[in-house]
Amino acid sequence: MPVQVFWRAKKLHEMSRTEFESLCDGCGKCCLHKLEDEDTGDVYYTKVACRYLDHTSCKCQVYEERQTHIPDCIALTPESVKDTYWLPETCAYRLIDEGIPLFDWHPLVSGDPDSVHKAGMSVAGLVVHENSVDPDDLEEYVVRWV
Ligand code: SF4
Ligand code: SF4
Repeated sequence: MPVQVFWRAKKLHEMSRTEFESLCDGCGKCCLHKLEDEDTGDVYYTKVACRYLDHTSCKCQVYEERQTHIPDCIALTPESVKDTYWLPETCAYRLIDEGIPLFDWHPLVSGDPDSVHKAGMSVAGLVVHENSVDPDDLEEYVVRWV
């Protein structure tokens, strides 16, 4: 009898910590600076990356102690996903929370940790370091591909 994989069988709050963590596809999109329109609440992603993002692997270089380095870096929980309205539409946490299946390029589905990069769904090679950008110029770096 076929066994259902956990990301189809369980809701976020039913997953173990390991299962929950493994949902991250490693796209790196959430590590980009964003701008929010005060009037409309619309969120705009820029291609300016947090200083701790590795631009090739899209991994955080200080993951375990990231909130020590960047206090407002998000630590998602099953409860906070719903309130984290700015997550990209492709984010696995958002998809599962909204009952949408993961994409074929998600590493859990493909079995290949690099499939997110091969499919062009990560920020690999597309971003600039935050130290190279004047914070007042962020608007010039808004992108549509997130
Ligand atoms: S946007 Fe979602 S899936 Fe992508 S790196 Fe961030 S938490 Fe992981
Ligand atoms: S500290 Fe790490 S996880 Fe947080 S935004 Fe920066 S690169 Fe991303």
